Amino acid sequence: MIAVDATHLKSKYKGVMFVANAFDGNRNIYPLAFGIGDLETDASWHWFFTKLHEAIGECPNLVIISDRNVSIENVLRNLIPLLNLIVIFARSSERNMLQGRCKEHVAESIYSILRFARTLRVVHLIGKIINLLVKWFTERRELALNCTTTLCPNFGEKKLRNRLEDVARMNVVKVNNAQFNVLDGDMDGLVDLTNNSCSCRKFQLEQLPCKHVVAVCCFLKVNVYSKASRYYTRKTWMDAYSDSIYPIQPHGMWDILEDIRSRVVLPPIARVMPGRRKKIRIPSQGEGTIRRKCSRLLLLFECEIKGPGM
Ligand SMILES: [Zn+2]
Repeated sequence: MIAVDATHLKSKYKGVMFVANAFDGNRNIYPLAFGIGDLETDASWHWFFTKLHEAIGECPNLVIISDRNVSIENVLRNLIPLLNLIVIFARSSERNMLQGRCKEHVAESIYSILRFARTLRVVHLIGKIINLLVKWFTERRELALNCTTTLCPNFGEKKLRNRLEDVARMNVVKVNNAQFNVLDGDMDGLVDLTNNSCSCRKFQLEQLPCKHVVAVCCFLKVNVYSKASRYYTRKTWMDAYSDSIYPIQPHGMWDILEDIRSRVVLPPIARVMPGRRKKIRIPSQGEGTIRRKCSRLLLLFECEIKGPGM
């Protein structure tokens, strides 16, 4: 599942930054790609999706989540049959959650950087983002290396352990060799092991055993971890952060190819609106403001939880 969005830049030459985010197995935001274009047009979105596709390759049943931008719709409508895509146009608050802009993620969100950095020149903006990625990759690589559980601790492992605790109060009734009815006080589930499904649908959606599948695994003495997607395993988590990201070197050390050096890059044609540039984005419906007390300064200040576009 990939969430895509664009945020308008506020530097001298304006422009739009396109961002594609996913989640890693430990439920942290995993930035996949970002790019800068002049405007949110069909051509610029097409360029970004083409580059994204080159970077991630073929992914069967890939789900793309975005807002209902006309250009995204136009581009994805052409790409759906080619790339085997499923597209969800989500509302602002849902996208915020999916893209890690909810309260618990906002501090580490790439958007918290963009909120302040989008007034910077492009090179400095990219530098800020790269520095953030260097920090994230280093921290998470060490977390994954020191992890001793089978699945990532914050999501898969935590959920499975909680579900294992619930098994004692469930009753498993064998229907046939493949199907089992799990009697649970509040919600029964019919588990089918031939197609790895449960009538509660949690197993199919999360790709992680729901409480009914956990109960069936215990009943059959099958290792419950074998039913979890490899997406949640510690190994996949480690692989995701195995490559290092390096900070941008000073301009003099750049190795620029000759055909790029010889190109003349003109600034985009930006329409300059009268008046002072707006820095604070107007929140969408569903986004609110929360008040936080800062104990150190003994000041009460308003902290805005921001969402798309910034
Ligand atoms: Zn279930």
